[in-house]
Amino acid sequence: MSGAAGSIFIVVAPSGAGKTSLVAALLKAEPGVELSVSFTTRAPRQGEVDGQHYHFVSRELFERMIADGDFLEHAEVYGNYYGTSRRWIAERVAAGHDLLLEIDWQGARQVRAAFPEAVAVFILPPSLPELENRLRGRGTDSEEVVARRLSEARAEIALAPEYDYLVVNDDFERALGDLRALVRTARLRAVQQQSPVDAILAEGVSA
Ligand code: 5GP
Repeated sequence: MSGAAGSIFIVVAPSGAGKTSLVAALLKAEPGVELSVSFTTRAPRQGEVDGQHYHFVSRELFERMIADGDFLEHAEVYGNYYGTSRRWIAERVAAGHDLLLEIDWQGARQVRAAFPEAVAVFILPPSLPELENRLRGRGTDSEEVVARRLSEARAEIALAPEYDYLVVNDDFERALGDLRALVRTARLRAVQQQSPVDAILAEGVSA
């Protein structure tokens, strides 16, 4: 019998909902989950490392990769391309690894079409005023950018009901606990664990 495939977790959130910090904490708390490193055409931000945060590539290369069918999903977000490697996902999941994709709502739809059993999670901010506070609190964006992100956030939040699970990030530790619960639940699925069944049956019954 071949080993069980891993689970695919898709995590989507509007900008400012705290997704990046939550995902980083989840990966630390559940070291068996591997983060998919996306390809992007956007420029690296300070401190970002090629191959670790993203694979940073030119627009020309990205478009060639689209034409070659290299992406499981891809989308244009804020004027840049982002995409997930088809081969990496297929190989890692078939080898039994649990994978986490931190992508946008457009990519989430494409991945769910290809892997209907993927676990799709949407992280909600506690409220729009709180989201606005967080976006302003970063202090890096102009008024115009904050206003645009807020209106985009509203449109994205309206799509939240199409996800399997909603996690409200009002309290960081609780939201992290919710995400860990989802990972553990997925691992308890029968299709993920043929081995204990085999082990029990192999022991037989004493007379
Ligand atoms: P950032 O540029 O701030 O790192 O990411 C911008 C947005 O692009 C975020 O919503 C992020 O989740 C999304 N994103 C990152 N990687 C991918 C990807 O591979 N595919 C898609 N569809 N979205 C992505």
